[in-house]
Amino acid sequence: MKVELLNYTKDGDKLIAQAAKLCYSEAGLKEINENLSPEEVDRFVHMLTSLGHMSPMEHISFSFYVEGISRACSHQLVRHRLASYSQQSQRYVRLDDFDYVIPPAIEKNPRAREVFIEAIKRDQEAYEDLVQALMEEGMKDKNLTDKEKNALEKRAIEDARYVFPNACATKVMVTMNLRSLLHFFEMRTCLRAQWEIRNLAIEMLKEVKKVYPLLFQEAGPGCLRGPCPEGKMTCGKIKEVRAYFQGGQDD
Ligand SMILES: Cc1cc2nc3c(=O)[nH]c(=O)nc-3n(C[C@H](O)[C@H](O)[C@H](O)COP(=O)(O)OP(=O)(O)OC[C@H]3O[C@@H](n4cnc5c(N)ncnc54)[C@H](O)[C@@H]3O)c2cc1C
Repeated sequence: MKVELLNYTKDGDKLIAQAAKLCYSEAGLKEINENLSPEEVDRFVHMLTSLGHMSPMEHISFSFYVEGISRACSHQLVRHRLASYSQQSQRYVRLDDFDYVIPPAIEKNPRAREVFIEAIKRDQEAYEDLVQALMEEGMKDKNLTDKEKNALEKRAIEDARYVFPNACATKVMVTMNLRSLLHFFEMRTCLRAQWEIRNLAIEMLKEVKKVYPLLFQEAGPGCLRGPCPEGKMTCGKIKEVRAYFQGGQDD
């Protein structure tokens, strides 16, 4: 999987402090800016986080480019509604030799791996056969223009793609504001999340920590900041999870 932080709001911590100070002050933005030292910015960011006053965090956002995740994972990703997405289309892009993601447990089990690869091959063949079958009838007309041929192919691939598996790799751009991103990290870096979206969330967290270490200092699963929110469903590994996130997510 490849995860790249494409863009983000610069001076975001200052923007958060400005927004927060505006809430609590009689002054306008001009006076607020005059008295806004870097120490005050840090103080405001800490205060908001500890109070759970999160709306000033919505003013800054982060855009990521993600490549090589499965459609199973991208489906889990897009369940996070407070975000914007652009995803490679299987309607418009013909996938010859489609890339796919092998779950680690399948990768290291020779028998399971064989079954998996065979299934992928059959899916690819079925896709190509379907595209051909769906285009055959229309292609009999020798007078088709290039535009008509393209339209025919598009109609064929958009139906043939129904045989593609969840393993099919995809590319997606995602933008979230800070509040939404912190919530995403809380849910998806948790050990209860599936391995792939958890890996994705951890890679995204590593990227944003490089540009805003303070803002993301306490980001991660809920158990970093209190008892495990999963209750009876807890993974029971709170010590290890805390050590991993507080130690900088070294692999
Ligand atoms: C371990 C795990 C297991 C899961 N298992 C399943 C499963 O079996 N089946 C399944 O369908 N999903 C499952 N999910 C997905 C989960 O239910 C959420 O859909 C997903 O995590 C997105 O979370 P969210 O709604 O909090 O995030 P967002 O959609 O980003 O929303 C953020 C927050 O905004 C508020 N919000 C957003 N939309 C609304 C709304 N319409 N009304 C009120 N408040 C809103 C809520 O406070 C919400 O927490 C699972 C997730 C995890 C982490």
